[in-house]
Amino acid sequence: MVNVQLLLLQEGAQELGINLQRGHLDAFATYYRELVREAPKADLTSVTDLEGVQRRHFLESLALGKALIDLGAFAPHPHCRVVDVGTGAGFPGLPLRLVWPLRLTLIEAHRRKVEFLRRLVALLGLADVEIVWARAEEVGHQTQYREAYSLALARAVAPMSTLLELTLPLVAMGGFLATPKGERVKEELREAAKALSMLGGEVVYVGSLKVPGPGPHPTLVVVEKKQPTPPLYPRRPGIPQKRPLR
Ligand code: SAM
Repeated sequence: MVNVQLLLLQEGAQELGINLQRGHLDAFATYYRELVREAPKADLTSVTDLEGVQRRHFLESLALGKALIDLGAFAPHPHCRVVDVGTGAGFPGLPLRLVWPLRLTLIEAHRRKVEFLRRLVALLGLADVEIVWARAEEVGHQTQYREAYSLALARAVAPMSTLLELTLPLVAMGGFLATPKGERVKEELREAAKALSMLGGEVVYVGSLKVPGPGPHPTLVVVEKKQPTPPLYPRRPGIPQKRPLR
């Protein structure tokens, strides 16, 4: 039995129009407890205080999911395939899976983080969450993952042009990439113009992500996959970061 009080999460979710039930809160309390316990040894996150985890990790993820539902970029359903690239300790993908029906894949390159995710997902009894220990540059060429997802998520993984190369190969035609961005968003989007057209994407939304609580709030960028990604992409591991498409 977990006894941590997640009042900020409960109230914030309500503000977002999400009514969390007892079962949801128990799952988030388990997530919080495991995250805080394993954060130092697996280098999971620097945010481990109760308020910070609720706001920065849980509520920001749920605000993202809700915004995407409102924008028509996410339609929760057990067959809706969602991938979170560079998920770290599971953000933003795993909180979405705790609240909405979806078929989730978490991609993460760092072994210790993957081990944490595997333990947590087993503890939460989420049999349908797939955890892939690999670099996104490799996963993007595997047939079972390539152009297989209606929605790709990524937070704090790479600047926009690199991120597009890591994620768009995984997105099906008509699907979306959604990423919360910080202060450099305008510059990143300018730099990513060529990558967008080369990889088959078009920016369809840029706007403030309303996360309950004090700001500053991230800017949500949503990209729609309009054309198939040429088979050459993603390039070899490390190249999208070293030589971003310009
Ligand atoms: N998305 C999480 C969050 O917002 O809390 C983690 C952010 S952390 C700063 C970036 C994560 O992306 C790291 O865990 C790193 O290992 C992972 N990552 C970076 N490049 C990657 C790649 N090419 N393939 C898979 N994972 C990657």
